[in-house]
Amino acid sequence: MSRPAFAADTEADPSESDAFVAAVLERMAAVLPPEDGPYPLHEPHIDGAAWSYVKDCLDSGWVSSVGEYVRWFEEKLVETTGAAHAVATVSGTAALHICMLLAGVQRDDEVLVPPLTFVASANAIHYCGAHPHFVDVEPVSLGVDPTALTAHLERIAEMRGDVCFNSVTGRPIRGLLVVHCFGHPARIAELAEVAARFNIVLIEDAAEALGTSAGNRSAGCHGKVAALSFNGNKTVTTGGGGAILTDDDELAELALHLTTTARVDDPFVLAHDMVAFNYRMPNLNAALGCAQLEQLPELLAAKRQLAARWREAFAGLGGLRFIDEPSWGKSNFWLNALSLDPPYATRRPQLLAALDAAGYHCRPFWTPLHRLPMYQDRPMASLQVADDLAARGFNLPSSAGLIRPGTLPIFDKNG
Ligand SMILES: *Cc1c(COP(=O)(O)O)cnc(C)c1O
Repeated sequence: MSRPAFAADTEADPSESDAFVAAVLERMAAVLPPEDGPYPLHEPHIDGAAWSYVKDCLDSGWVSSVGEYVRWFEEKLVETTGAAHAVATVSGTAALHICMLLAGVQRDDEVLVPPLTFVASANAIHYCGAHPHFVDVEPVSLGVDPTALTAHLERIAEMRGDVCFNSVTGRPIRGLLVVHCFGHPARIAELAEVAARFNIVLIEDAAEALGTSAGNRSAGCHGKVAALSFNGNKTVTTGGGGAILTDDDELAELALHLTTTARVDDPFVLAHDMVAFNYRMPNLNAALGCAQLEQLPELLAAKRQLAARWREAFAGLGGLRFIDEPSWGKSNFWLNALSLDPPYATRRPQLLAALDAAGYHCRPFWTPLHRLPMYQDRPMASLQVADDLAARGFNLPSSAGLIRPGTLPIFDKNG
């Protein structure tokens, strides 16, 4: 297989590299003893009232999209995030799709989005017939870089009336989809200013960021609309699921309508007034979600402690950097990440193979979306930082369950 052209590129001495792999393995073992492995990248942590809520749901027969747990889950999300409204959906991807529609994204629009994200961020844009327009990230939060974004828009944007157009493609730039990568808050306050200056709708992909905040506001409460995910690998899970957050009363109502096939609200008429979607979260999933949200403070505390262990373990080891919480907010530490220094980056496959063999299921960052076949011909800014980070980074086992007293020896000894 040929090496991607964007891989960081200094050959390290192989013997030195073996010593490096051994040093990384030793630090891993200090946090997670190999004999207690293997350690998946991220496992759900099911606890508390999960069994009783789900059983209640089964006993009642209300297992589908109508039922009290869905409403209750939404109320709990409102409490947790401070958003005025939450609308629960079948997945984070479905929530993102609806967010695009609520933001007014139409066929042949463009939506600014970073390439260092899960593919759903761009897919949701494509579902609307619009084009992802890729913009670069910055190395602290791994989120969109407001300085680079401003420079890019100053170069290519042209205001026609109050609509921002891409002067190169002639298409309207309707939205900016900010991703809070791995649960670290993006530079959302500055990004909101850039979006306002160019009259671009700010949308948050907070799929990875339940419990994350920037300033004193939760991720998902900075833009017009936001999407959360409750997939099995996220901090809080409903099996599969998502939610739309918004402060706008009308958009919340429209979100509910669009996710429930736009059914006309009349018990004696079975009709629909728009082409819409069957995207409503089932009650069964929401029941699990209610129990999970009751555990959120404990989950976040455990994830924060695990991150502290990783930070401590890798401090002072040359050749890599722990991607840490940005100064401007709080991370939920969904997935801990390391970034290899350039001389070591080409050894990432070897390192990941050694870690895997030792029971540590780490994984490389996503292939940046502008490198995927369906998105390589879309509009894009210089994406040097995203390419560089994608070639050097990998995620560490990050399950909250790893930090429960008794499951992590180092925690019992030192903490
Ligand atoms: C998980 C995730 C999604 C999609 O969520 P699903 O619930 O899996 O559909 C979207 N964006 C990002 C950044 C994600 O990590």
